[in-house]
Amino acid sequence: MQPCNIIFVSPHLDDAIISCGGLIHRLIKLGIKVKIITVFAGSSTGNLSPFAEWMQKEWNLPFDAPGARRTEDLNAISSIGAEAIHLQFPCSIYRFDLKTGKFLYTSKTDIFSGECLQEPKILPDMIQEINTKINIRTPEILFIPLSIGGHIDHILTRKALEAIYLPEEKKRLIYYEDFPYVLRYFNLQNESKKQEINGLQSLIIQLSISDLESREFASRCYKSQSQETAKVIGLPLDQIRPYAASVLGKKGGFGERYWSSEPSCFQTLKAVLGIGS
Ligand SMILES: [Zn+2]
Repeated sequence: MQPCNIIFVSPHLDDAIISCGGLIHRLIKLGIKVKIITVFAGSSTGNLSPFAEWMQKEWNLPFDAPGARRTEDLNAISSIGAEAIHLQFPCSIYRFDLKTGKFLYTSKTDIFSGECLQEPKILPDMIQEINTKINIRTPEILFIPLSIGGHIDHILTRKALEAIYLPEEKKRLIYYEDFPYVLRYFNLQNESKKQEINGLQSLIIQLSISDLESREFASRCYKSQSQETAKVIGLPLDQIRPYAASVLGKKGGFGERYWSSEPSCFQTLKAVLGIGS
């Protein structure tokens, strides 16, 4: 079985590659077409809040930072051989109330509050846009974020895709672990109570060194997001390798862990990868 249509949905311009780059590389090496759709890839449509200005200064990017980040994303995704699709929703730091002009997320606390009550239309708008831009019924497997870490844009991305799929179609959904948030996630207590993985089963995909190196190389294409550029808010890309090793533990080697409510979805993925059940 060789499905030719696998989609990874990325909230921001980096999440899918830094979280799943090893598997993406492995799929592409098998000749499978992979599309990466980034939902919050749009430019800001107005002035910047002081918080957004500070973030962009950290990233060392000009006013249209999302434009520069789209270029980084194209470089990252083409380095690994996938196809990039950018939707035009601005990420949380740029969104404002259309009536009052007030910015909706003006601090890290706001972004990770898990609340999007001030923008009741965004989820229906996302569902409509995703349905319009993507033939969402086509992919055999669709990868979406677990939304570990609670970033509002990650939560919205998961909710939008879960809402689009009918219950019988949910077997096509596989969840990925949001990097770098996952670095802290499994160290917390009360594992079984974690709502993001409640009711899901996991599958570890082993990576070759070439898969891992491709993920690391592609992740470094997001220069503005690296710790070399953004000292305070940069991504700990040097932790990709230790985390990929920790997934397999004492067995040795490197892996990425995925989650699904439907074991049959993992069977499809295993068949695609040519690994036993
Ligand atoms: Zn993100």
